[in-house]
Amino acid sequence: MDEHAAMELVERARSETAHLAAALARQRDEIVASSEFTSGDDEHDPEGATIAFEREQVQALLRQAQDDLAALGQAAERVRAGVYEICERCGGPIAEGRLTALPATRTCIACANRR
Ligand SMILES: [Zn+2]
Repeated sequence: MDEHAAMELVERARSETAHLAAALARQRDEIVASSEFTSGDDEHDPEGATIAFEREQVQALLRQAQDDLAALGQAAERVRAGVYEICERCGGPIAEGRLTALPATRTCIACANRR
């Protein structure tokens, strides 16, 4: 994979993840807004408990998306530094198929499995 292709791969994943994060943030805001109409008593109000659970789920997904964005930012740095396809652990090559599936990965499949 040349640097241009690698950068395109990372940038595409970055923009998809940014869209996802924005959608999740909107969803969370909607849940928060809708929960303002309930009692907020999670323990005794079944609706409140459901909303709290949904909010937690969305919040977790949002955190994951933000972590992915940070990791993709680092991946872009690695492309620029010319070390994108080099495993951080063993210094060996990272397979192109693995990078395509996981653009933010920093290790080869062997090192990932060893963890
Ligand atoms: Zn490795």
